[in-house]
Parts: sequence; structure tokens; C-alpha cells
Amino acid sequence: MDTDVLIVGAGPTGLMLANQLARRNINTLIIDQHPGPSLETRALGVQARTLEIYSHLGIVERAIELGKRGTGANIWAQGEHRARVALSDVGDKVTPYPFVLILGQDDNERIMGDHLRELGCSVQWNTGLVSVTQQADSVTAVIKQAEGSQRKVVAAWVAGCDGARSTVRESCGIAFAGAPYEHVFFVADTEVTGRMVPDEVNVYLFQDGFHLLFPMRGKDHWRIVGILPPELRNKPDLRFEAVVPSLQNEAGDQLQIKSCSWFSTYRIHHRAAVHFRDRRCFLLGDAAHIHSPVGAQGMNTGLQDAYNLAWKLTLVIKKQAKTALLDSYEQERLPVARALLHGTDRAFRFIVSDSWIPGLLRTRVLSRLAAFAANRNAVQRLAFRTVSQTGVRYRKSSLSKSLNGLPENAPHAGDRFPWLRLKFTADGAVEDLFQKLCDTHFSLILVGQSNFTGETPELNGLLHTYVVPADPTNDEELARTRISQPSFYLIRPDGYVGLCGASIESADIQDYFTENLHLLIQRAASA
Ligand SMILES: Cc1cc2nc3c(=O)[nH]c(=O)nc-3n(C[C@H](O)[C@H](O)[C@H](O)COP(=O)(O)OP(=O)(O)OC[C@H]3O[C@@H](n4cnc5c(N)ncnc54)[C@H](O)[C@@H]3O)c2cc1C
Repeated sequence: MDTDVLIVGAGPTGLMLANQLARRNINTLIIDQHPGPSLETRALGVQARTLEIYSHLGIVERAIELGKRGTGANIWAQGEHRARVALSDVGDKVTPYPFVLILGQDDNERIMGDHLRELGCSVQWNTGLVSVTQQADSVTAVIKQAEGSQRKVVAAWVAGCDGARSTVRESCGIAFAGAPYEHVFFVADTEVTGRMVPDEVNVYLFQDGFHLLFPMRGKDHWRIVGILPPELRNKPDLRFEAVVPSLQNEAGDQLQIKSCSWFSTYRIHHRAAVHFRDRRCFLLGDAAHIHSPVGAQGMNTGLQDAYNLAWKLTLVIKKQAKTALLDSYEQERLPVARALLHGTDRAFRFIVSDSWIPGLLRTRVLSRLAAFAANRNAVQRLAFRTVSQTGVRYRKSSLSKSLNGLPENAPHAGDRFPWLRLKFTADGAVEDLFQKLCDTHFSLILVGQSNFTGETPELNGLLHTYVVPADPTNDEELARTRISQPSFYLIRPDGYVGLCGASIESADIQDYFTENLHLLIQRAASA
């Protein structure tokens, strides 16, 4: 065996997976057909859930330092400012990062690439996958090297992080169901001045589409994303100047363009692979799902795929779990991708419909709806949880088991465990739970379980236990996040609740580890 995991593709998804595996000491080979890292900004919005993962990886400070915090979104229609949605107000109890970080994909890739090198692993550039063939206990990959020669690599597992035209997906014969949109997007990195609200996202709605202006690092730097006017769709060698009249028409003639450093057009598709796994090969990121950029979810979803798979692959490779654990990757991530495709497709079709009725609705009704929603906390909270991806949950997964006794509105198995600040000793300081929990371990949180005397199973240090003592600060935090007392929560390495209930029993935990997680542990002898 040449490597435990062959990662094909060193875009954001492949780099995240490589980082997660390297820090868990898994032997990994990551290849990319390009000669070096991409210099294009492409995706720009880094969501709160991604920043939480960056924090565990130790790169969040660097990302925040390089990026710009987008703390609100503003809706404009017919030249007027119609609504503002304040992200920081609704998200500040949900996550340590209540904003969208505006940071280009190239910067994200650079930060992850640097960190990967610090972990002792580097991308092999100029190395393209040609094909894969699977055997019972390995995969043989044919790869093409810079000088054109081919060689074989035998890996225990292959991760296809190779983008929309994935060779891994094609080699496995997995269909990529969906269709292209007729619309063509343009994207431009510009220096402009105008009436935009500084440091915030500005959305201009108009009869035939929309323009999004994202603040970028540097004075007056804005990323503009929009739909090409139909008459420009098939023009060859299109330049930014061609879209300026439509921009000024909708964003107002106060919009003064100083320069444009990058302009590109692209036709988008909405597609999802019908399976995310074929035996020893997995699909992640754009190889598994692509959709409209509405909502800045694409790159973030790929990063979450990688985070979901990494801890599971690690346990299987280290022979601490049976391969059945890996079935939960598709079970959990495919529904997330389908829901995302459905949501972004509906939003996109509504926003860009060419018919005059939705056009009228868009500018009049949508902007009023946005203004109405901006004043409704519940709507804002739902919007924040959706866009930030902190609301993603896996309640139907075979890894999610809620025992009796918890109130309906308490966090349940499959939910991301909420962000809490707690005291872990009666006279100790208040600590940030996310900082305290280690994402390479399982964590058991015990609230009011003073009678628990049973042993937690022997997991070779894989399980850390935290007792939350009775304390007024703790009571307040628990009540805020609807965690009832008594209760217990077993949290997976990726921060999702695996098992929970009102009263803990050793046998329940052991059953969960062996039957749901398929961990290879010794059952404690019954008393
Ligand atoms: C112009 C543009 C603008 C975009 N804007 C946004 C945005 O604003 N917001 C957003 O969320 N998303 C946006 N996206 C989408 C976003 O860029 C993707 O979701 C993201 O790049 C997915 O990351 P990935 O790592 O899964 O795939 P990719 O970034 O596509 O990386 C795949 C990698 O695999 C490599 N590869 C492919 N085939 C092989 C092979 N056979 N062998 C070896 N290596 C291979 C490629 O060289 C590439 O480096 C945009 C995309 C484009 C094109």
C-alpha cells in the first residue's frame, strides 16, 4: 500500500481533508493536476461554521486578519435602500463568529496549504489522476506526472475532491444528476465608489436580475457578482466594460468604476452526484454537488464534507471502527447537498426569472419582504442559521440517537452542539466550550448526573468527559440554549450530538459506541 488516503484535488475541499487527516497522523497523498495553487478569488464568503472549524485547526486568526468582516447585508431596489439584515445581532449568541468573513478562495487555499506544510504534508502539483480501479481492500490509481509519464499508486481509500468534472466520479460511474442554467454569471474584482454601505454586503435587485457587491480587503475594493444581460451572453472575449452600463443603471450612476483587476464569466449548473461513495472512493465538494452561488455556500459545503469524513476515515484506518461507520458519510452529507441545491435553485430561479411578473415581484415585493423580515428576530435567526451553516443537522442519521426524557425543544442527537460559556469548577473562570472541546476526540458532557457511577467504556483516550457543576452562570447558559437539567450529551469529534438523554447509563453509551458508531471496543463486563 503506497498511502492510506489518496486525495485527488488541492482546492479548498482537498486541502481541508488533507489538513484534518494529517493532524490525526494519517498517511495521506494529495495530488493536483494544476502546476500550483489557484490565484483566482472565486468563492468569497467564509461562513461561521467554517470559521469554527478553522478555529480547531488553528488558522482562524490568520483568516480573520486577512479577511474583512461582513456584519450585515443591505437590500437595494429601484435606487433606494430598502432593508438591512444585521448578522452580528442575530448570531452573537450562536457562534463566536457572528459574521460572514469576506476572504477570497485563493487566500483560504493559501492558509490551508501553509498549515498543511507545517503538518509535514505537501501537495504534489502537476500530478493528475487518470483512472481508478477498485479491489476488495485497496484502490489502484493511475496518475500522470508533469513530464507525461504515468505511474500507479495503491491507496486504501480515495477522496475525490477534484471539482465539478471529477475523474474519480466518472471512473466510479456515478451519475451527476441536474442541469445547467441558461444564465451566465459574471464576477469582477473592482475598485469602485458609490452609495454602497461600507464593509457590508450590498444586494441590488432589479427587473432582470441582481448585482451583489461584497466588500474586499483594501479601500474601495468590491467584488461584484451579477447576471450577464441576455444580449451579452454569447459574446466572445467579453470585458468588464461591457457590463458597466447595466451596473450603473441598477446600482445608480453614482457608481464610479476606478479599476477592475479580475473579470470572468461562468455558466453554472445545479447538480448532485447520486451517490457520494462507491466502495473505497468518496466524493466531496464540487465533485459531489454544484449549485448557484446565491448564498455563498459552495466552498463552505465542501469544507464541511471534508470535516464530516475525516474523523470517520481516521477511526477506520486506525482500526478503531468498522468500515460500516463510513456509510454515514453519504447518509449525512447527501441530504445536506440536496437541500442546498433545492434552496439555492428556488431562490435563484425566483431572483433571475425573465418573466415580467416575478421581475415586478422581485423589486417591489421581495425588497418589502426583506424590510419586513429585517425587523423580525425569528426570521433573522433562521436566516443566520441557514446561511452560516450552524443550523445544519443530521437528526435522521444512523449515528444520531436521542434517548427519552429530553424536552422537545432541547438540542437532540444530530444537532450541532450549541456554543456555551460555562464554569467547569465551582470557583473557576468561565470557559468557552468550543475552545475546550477537542475535535479529535468524543466528548461527554454531564449536566446534573451526580448519581452516575457507571464506567464509560475504555476507548484508549478517545473520550473526554466534562462535568458541568451546578452554578448560576451555568444555569443561565443552559437555559438559554434549552439544555435541560439533568441531561447528558455525547458529542462527536465534528461537534454534532451523537447520543443524548436525561439520565446516563453505561450500557446506553456502550451500545451506542458498538451499534451506532461501529467502534471496536471491549464491552465492560456487566456487574
Ligand atoms: C468564477 C467562479 C466564481 C465562484 N464564486 C463563488 C462564490 O462567490 N461563492 C461560492 O461559495 N462559490 C463560488 N464558486 C464555487 C467555488 O469556487 C467552489 O464551490 C469551490 O472551488 C469548490 O472547491 P473544491 O475543492 O470542491 O473544488 P475545486 O476548487 O474545483 O478544486 C478541484 C481541484 O481538483 C483538481 N483536479 C481536477 N481534476 C483532477 C485530476 N484528474 N487530477 C488531479 N487534480 C484534479 C483541480 O485542478 C482543482 O485544483 C465560484 C466558482 C467559479 C468558477
